[in-house]
Amino acid sequence: MSAQKVWLITGTSTGLGRSLAETVIARGDMLVATVRNQGAGRELTELAPDRVKVVTMDVTDAAAIRSCVQEAYRAFGRIDVLVNNAGYGLFGAVEEITEEQIRRQLETNLTGSILMTKEVLPRMREQRSGHIIQISSVGGQLATPGLSIYHATKWGIEGFCESLAGEVAAFGIKVTIVEPGGIRTDWAGRSMDHGDILAAYEGTPIAQIRQMREELVPSGDPDKMARVIAGLTLRDDAPLRLTLGSDAYTLLQQILPKRLEQLEAEKVLTLSTDTEHAGAASDGWKQLLK
Ligand code: NAD
Repeated sequence: MSAQKVWLITGTSTGLGRSLAETVIARGDMLVATVRNQGAGRELTELAPDRVKVVTMDVTDAAAIRSCVQEAYRAFGRIDVLVNNAGYGLFGAVEEITEEQIRRQLETNLTGSILMTKEVLPRMREQRSGHIIQISSVGGQLATPGLSIYHATKWGIEGFCESLAGEVAAFGIKVTIVEPGGIRTDWAGRSMDHGDILAAYEGTPIAQIRQMREELVPSGDPDKMARVIAGLTLRDDAPLRLTLGSDAYTLLQQILPKRLEQLEAEKVLTLSTDTEHAGAASDGWKQLLK
């Protein structure tokens, strides 16, 4: 990659995406920044008119994704870094949310990121370099009541990225999943979608979590996170996963060992279902996944 990189970042009107866009511009790189509403990216263009192109698009619109990527190539001739940042939260018990809310959440956070990635891959493969940075969440490795579909999108996109990383490493393309804890952005406030509260869930954990969320002040600083994310693209050894924030770190330290403990606790049952050829099969997977 040349020293000056070309970035494509989705969802730059507010929050982490906005901070990252400003960081990239301050670094002297070129930027294609997507926003949903015309005019929302004007301040970004004003920062560096010859290095910034703002594209209006919604990541749930596949045709808009295709023309956004084409516009990026027309403007700067290449894309070095794609950041799939656009996304929002949906809070409510599964019974409280509608099919339409579920589909919109999946199409934005999951399908939108997958289609964006698919669209930039051919040219990154040809140029034999590129970095796909996926904004996931600590909620891509743990799950709490009330955010089931949000977790489905973040766990889903993490599986997608991990699989993709193995497919594209041969072409010099890196993949990094960023897992922030709470960040001071619009995510938990203005941007959050909610289900209609069902009285039946009063007094259950989801009601407690709803209350806790209203009082919680997130600890993550979007500007500091943006600087760390931008720094990833300067590393040859960029990690597959990067967790950001002391809250996220503490939670994962507590939860990840429990998954291994559960694996071990059920080991007898787990190993009881093999055919006689199982040893050879798991040796093969061990080699592939090491
Ligand atoms: P935010 O609401 O301030 O910003 C979200 C951005 O995504 C906005 O610019 C919005 O316009 C855009 N967006 C939403 N739906 C879109 C769509 N359909 N098409 C195009 N753009 C769309 O919130 P944020 O905290 O900056 O969120 C950024 C990312 O960080 C999200 O993926 C979110 O899930 C993730 N995240 C946030 C937190 C947090 O606590 N804020 C924690 C972990 C992960």
